[in-house]
Amino acid sequence: MSQTLLYEGCGERYRLGRVEGETPLPAAWSMHGTAFHLAAEGIERSGRRMAQEEAVQIFSDEYAVLVNKALDQEPDTTRWLSVSGSGAEDIERRYVLGQEQTRQYWEWTQEHEPAIWSTSDDQPGLELGFEVEIGGVVVRGFIDQVIVEPDGSARVRDLKTGSTKSRFQLETYGVAVQLVHGITVNKGDWYLAKKGGLSRPVDLSAVTAELVGERFATMDEGVKAGKFEAKPGFLCRFCDVKHKCSFFR
Ligand code: SF4
Repeated sequence: MSQTLLYEGCGERYRLGRVEGETPLPAAWSMHGTAFHLAAEGIERSGRRMAQEEAVQIFSDEYAVLVNKALDQEPDTTRWLSVSGSGAEDIERRYVLGQEQTRQYWEWTQEHEPAIWSTSDDQPGLELGFEVEIGGVVVRGFIDQVIVEPDGSARVRDLKTGSTKSRFQLETYGVAVQLVHGITVNKGDWYLAKKGGLSRPVDLSAVTAELVGERFATMDEGVKAGKFEAKPGFLCRFCDVKHKCSFFR
């Protein structure tokens, strides 16, 4: 699913990363996101009995492992991607920020107690993997959380440490849950770590596999036809293959 978003954002980025296999530049934001997700999952899998500082430790340990691994591969932090400040400053800043956001998530989930949905074989709707054919394309992914609504339907939830939100991602998750598990999904939302709370719900009740499938099919046809349109612009700043791109600006 992320491949479609990548392809739509910039075909050249898709080509360099997915077809040519260029080594991406590291970005602390990616490690921040992964470590936060692991901590949030740990909190939920513990039935929210995990101590707050234990959750923060999960974040800290995972972030340190990921950053150190990336530093082994790219020790020059001036080559790391960063939205603000140097790469080295960003690594330090996100360590503290991620710890704060983990504490905030722990407090939020204690207060709001979201009802995590379970599959028919009692698997909790946490980092729920799926593989499903949509628009003639096999789509794989993991859904951060699936929540039970008061009316018995499900709500898909994506946890975000960054600012970029994709409605298409929620739509795909909704379709995947309905196709794989046969449960109605009417809404989706994002937990926004920057805000420490939920976004407004997104209405998914009219979303169909056909509608979502068109975008997957278009991407698939484009890739098979070798169509990789470069879209230089604002997003180049955040692009992890810009060092290999002749369109970068
Ligand atoms: S640097 Fe810009 S144009 Fe080049 S691949 Fe990245 S996003 Fe696309």
